[in-house]
Amino acid sequence: MCAIEAGKRGRRVIVLERSERIGKKILISGGGRCNFTNLHCRPENFLSANPHFAKSALARYTPDDFISLVEKHHIPYHEKTLGQLFCDRSARDITNLLEEECRSAGVQILVSSEPREISRDTGFVVRVKDEQFRASALVVATGGLSIPKIGATAFGYEVAKQFGLKIQPPRPALVPLVLAPEDRARYCDLAGVSAEVVASTDHQHFREKMLITHRGLSGPAILQISSYWTAGTPVRIDLAPGREITTNLRSGDSRNATALRSALRQVVPNRLADRWLELHTPPAWTNQALENFERRTHEWEIVPAGTEGFEKAEVTAGGVDTGELSAKTMESREVPGLFFIGEVVDVTGQLGGFNFQWAWASGVAAGQAV
Ligand SMILES: Cc1cc2nc3c(=O)[nH]c(=O)nc-3n(C[C@H](O)[C@H](O)[C@H](O)COP(=O)(O)OP(=O)(O)OC[C@H]3O[C@@H](n4cnc5c(N)ncnc54)[C@H](O)[C@@H]3O)c2cc1C
Repeated sequence: MCAIEAGKRGRRVIVLERSERIGKKILISGGGRCNFTNLHCRPENFLSANPHFAKSALARYTPDDFISLVEKHHIPYHEKTLGQLFCDRSARDITNLLEEECRSAGVQILVSSEPREISRDTGFVVRVKDEQFRASALVVATGGLSIPKIGATAFGYEVAKQFGLKIQPPRPALVPLVLAPEDRARYCDLAGVSAEVVASTDHQHFREKMLITHRGLSGPAILQISSYWTAGTPVRIDLAPGREITTNLRSGDSRNATALRSALRQVVPNRLADRWLELHTPPAWTNQALENFERRTHEWEIVPAGTEGFEKAEVTAGGVDTGELSAKTMESREVPGLFFIGEVVDVTGQLGGFNFQWAWASGVAAGQAV
């Protein structure tokens, strides 16, 4: 997006891509259909040490702007849920769009071209194999550390460090959580069971699906909350959001395991309901014991052992400290001509098309300034 915008302004632009093709992450995104934006994109959908930083770029390049581009290329798309827009056909439509726009803006893309060394004299000098490229502006758009097997590198952070820019420590986000051994023994044989829950930490909550996996928990609610989770702290899960389980039992005569199981099964998937009851059988059938059971079911508190790491993370939180960059142009405050855009910057979107919207918007902001 940066190259396209700069190319349209008459700049001579070269994109250096280490892979044999551009946009590999786009191709695997959204289950192969690329959730390319979100209709309800707001600054609150992003995490950053400075929550205000993303506002300017996001306001100047909106989901509607990207939708116009998608429509210009006659790409069929649909809203899946919660404002999330996906391609009808395939994510390849989006990489084709970007390549076509690059072509018509006169942008040259060089694939299998990994910069080895960057230096600076009157401008930037980038060495790739036996060639040298000189430019007055250098834009780093190398993404985060997630999914190393499709080519993620720490290169962007290294360039930032080389030029003295601060980094917020990169960490896996939108990532499945791994349970501690004792919880794994209790729940993970239920792998594949999913339930609608509210997952929360002290400052955030998400009501979406949770999925039990062989090593822990995943699904949209867990991926979302993982971005806000810090190691050693608990995640709370409401297994029955907005539902009362024990009210009828407390007001009626049949206070026993069968009645409670049947009430729980109406709200929670059967296998999980049975396991939950097995592990949390009320010690008595008093109102107090039933209330405690009700509360526990709405406040399952777990301290995950960790996350599945960058191998499985959809995104990398942290990155180039936004205090180092202009919010308007993404240019370094101290090193004129050096820009950072997209995921390498300490701006991380929630699940649902926000990370691409940030990549497009920050790219356009830099493209208007280089
Ligand atoms: C499985 C998965 C699914 C996702 N689904 C969605 C989704 O549906 N919606 C959404 O909004 N977000 C999604 N994301 C997140 C989204 O893909 C990223 O946030 C987004 O691609 C970031 O864009 P970027 O241009 O900053 O970095 P990237 O897309 O990662 O692009 C960086 C590029 O730089 C290249 N590169 C890296 N190092 C070097 C180097 N040293 N030299 C030259 N080139 C280099 C890489 O090969 C890559 O092509 C998903 C992520 C994953 C992993």
